[in-house]
Parts: sequence; C-alpha cells; structure tokens
Amino acid sequence: MTLNLVPFVSVDHMMKLVLRLGVEQVMIDLAAEIEADFRRWPKFDKTPRIASHSDVGVIELMPTSDGETYGFKYVNGHPANMKQGLQTVTAFGLLADVATGYPLLLSEMTILTALRTAATSAMAAKWLAPEGSTTMALIGNGAQAEFQALGFKAVCGITEVRLYDIDPEATAKCVRNLAGRGLNVTACRTAEEAILGSQIITTVTADKQYATILTDNMVGAGVHINGVGGDCPGKTELHRDILLRSSIFVEYPPQTRIEGEIQQLAPDHPVTELWQVMSGEAPGRTRADQVTLFDSVGFAIEDFSALRYVRSKLAETGLCENLDMIADPDDPRDLFGMILRAA
Ligand code: NAD
Repeated sequence: MTLNLVPFVSVDHMMKLVLRLGVEQVMIDLAAEIEADFRRWPKFDKTPRIASHSDVGVIELMPTSDGETYGFKYVNGHPANMKQGLQTVTAFGLLADVATGYPLLLSEMTILTALRTAATSAMAAKWLAPEGSTTMALIGNGAQAEFQALGFKAVCGITEVRLYDIDPEATAKCVRNLAGRGLNVTACRTAEEAILGSQIITTVTADKQYATILTDNMVGAGVHINGVGGDCPGKTELHRDILLRSSIFVEYPPQTRIEGEIQQLAPDHPVTELWQVMSGEAPGRTRADQVTLFDSVGFAIEDFSALRYVRSKLAETGLCENLDMIADPDDPRDLFGMILRAA
C-alpha cells in the first residue's frame, strides 16, 4: 500500500493562518484571487448549487472545476440555529486533481466562507460603489459582520461602519470585536439611523422569509447596496421597489434567479454578471446618482479560489495535518488483498 496523504486544514489551523497572515491581508489576497478567477470565468464548469431544503434550513453542495482542479463546498444555512447556540452557516470543502481525481486538500470552510464572502463583497464594491466611499451601514451584526467590515476597510478603504441589528447584543459584540482596528464604529438604534451618510449599505441578516430590511424610501440616489443575507428561495432582504430602480449585478444568473433578491422579479429582468464588468465586457457604475446592487448569493468559484489560496499557503505556514483518506493499494486491482495484508 502506498500512503496517499491529503493535507487537512482544521478550524484550529484556519484560525492560526488568519492570525499569522493578518485578517485584512487575507481579505486583500482573497479578493485578488477571486477577481483573477472571475476574469477567466468562461473556463469554469458552472452549475447552480445543489440544494436540499427543509422547513428550517438548507444543505448545499457547491461544485466547480477549471479543467485542472476540481473543488466543492458542503454548506448549510439554518437561521434558527443561532437560538440553540449553533452557527447559522457551517462549511467544509475539498480540492481534487482533475487528472487523477485524487483529493489535494480538505479544509474547514466555516471561517473561510466568512472570509471569502466578505472578500467577494468588497471586490464587487471596488468596481461598483461610488468613488471615494468612506462609510458603510452594516445591517445584521451576526457571524459574518466583522468580516464584512474589515473586508471593506482592507479592499475599499472604508473608514466608518454604522451598525444595526434587531438584537442590540449582536451589535455590542460587533463593536467590541472591531475596537482598535482603525475603523470608526457607530452602534445605531434603527436601520434608518445606520444608513445616514453611508455610501455603501450591507445587509447581512438571517431569516428564512421574505424580509424587508430596506424599504425603497431608505435608499438614496447613488448608493451601493451589498445584499448578502438573501441567498435562498423564499429568503430576501430588500423591498422589490428598490430592485426596480437599481442596476443589479450578480455572480451566476441561473443560481441568483432562484436564490437572490431577484427571485422577486420577472425571470428576464436585466442583470449584469460581475465577471463581465471585470473583464471590460459590461459597464459597472456609469452615473453618480445610480443605485447599484450586488445581489450576492455566494458562488462555487469563490470557494474554489479560497481553497486554492489556502493550499498555496501550506508550504509557507505548515498549518495542516495529513489525512490517510485515500485507499491506494500497490496493485490498484487488489483492494481486497490490501485489507487482508493489514491483518
Ligand atoms: P447570523 O445568524 O450569525 O447573524 C444574523 C444576524 O441578523 C443576527 O444577529 C440577527 O439578530 C440579525 N437580524 C435578523 N433579522 C434582522 C432584521 N430584520 N434587522 C436587523 N438585523 C436582523 O448569520 P450570519 O452567519 O451572519 O449570516 C447572515 C446571512 O448571510 C445568512 O442569511 C446567511 O445565509 C447569509 N450568507 C450569505 C453568504 C453569501 O455568499 N451571500 C455567505 C454567508 C452567509
């Protein structure tokens, strides 16, 4: 038997990786990796994620491949988990070699999803938000929130975040975690107060229903909305009227039409694919008074980029352990004999 060991990045390794490299540096690196992969979008195998829905949540598989490397993420979304002391979103993922099908990396992805989601949001805002944006409203102050704040600081140069959550304890936690990180942080009592003076509005709430976190009258001309929390059929955050006067940018339309804010619109409502803006094939923001919306649902290519980034750091950091997870007998046809020889 040859030992075919697969590097495994545990939660502990991932935390150490982020602390060693610095969370803002990781955001900058991830935004660059994801943008590089968005620029070669046509090379990827793409499919809407495979979702298994229940009354309380969803479990999803998110696969993609660039022809050389294959990747997938397992991820759940259970808004009621938080009340039981559990995460709303947890994930792990794998990279494999297309030439042999053998795994190359297994990794935790709960932390990595928060990092890549924030990096993707910030990358989109770099292309779509008003130039010189300094202030972001952050509505929904749960697990994703600090990552969003720091991603926008690192990638877009945001200096001020205005926080709001229906649960003041979530906002207080966010204020504590963001202290001393070079951001001017204001806790607000309403969503209306949070968006005052904000050029960017991020909504990242969790509720398995058609929610209205923002109504039309709350959204002024020229703002950029980063809609992160509406990412499932029947789960949205923005009033439909906002969508009707926004220029809407999406990751992969066949998936976003089912899961994003645009599930509220006609199936042929015009949207622009973000990768086309990056490759110069479609315009981004063209007017100062334009409302732009990144209708984020999270797409497999972002996870692929993030996993490849983690793999690229293993030699430098040594932050992994090796797993014996591929049975690999010396004689490929003698799988049974391998068991007998182990007795
Ligand atoms: P979480 O449960 O940790 O936090 C959600 C927060 O939203 C909670 O603090 C809750 O009190 C608050 N909230 C709920 N309703 C609200 C309202 N009406 N107004 C203000 N605040 C409200 O969840 P999380 O891990 O931070 O995830 C947030 C959302 O983002 C989830 O819906 C998740 O599915 C989604 N998400 C999207 C992506 C993506 O790529 N687009 C990635 C990760 C998570």
